[in-house]
Amino acid sequence: MGCPLAAAPHCPRETEPAPGCTQRGVEAGPVSGPKAIVRHENWTITPDREPDAEPVTHQFECAVCGEMSGADGDWEPPQTWAIQHSGRNPSHHTYREIIRRPWRTFMNA
Ligand SMILES: [Zn+2]
Repeated sequence: MGCPLAAAPHCPRETEPAPGCTQRGVEAGPVSGPKAIVRHENWTITPDREPDAEPVTHQFECAVCGEMSGADGDWEPPQTWAIQHSGRNPSHHTYREIIRRPWRTFMNA
């Protein structure tokens, strides 16, 4: 069963959420009393550029046989691997690049 106030964005502020409604009311009305204190938690996500972040890596996967190069911080080693892989397997011409990039979330102050 959904929220009984289908037109409203949330269940009423003072009540428990209805079964199936995952959101408690978060919009404080103009007459908010002590019971209506609601904590907003806003999160931001950003690429992780901290010194302890995991490295960005590039890796190639052969789309024909699934063999993979090593993961490397540079472009060249995976590309060299792909050229050599095609040399050993002349019918393998297509590759996927897999980029791993670290991200970090933080709670806004
Ligand atoms: Zn291959």
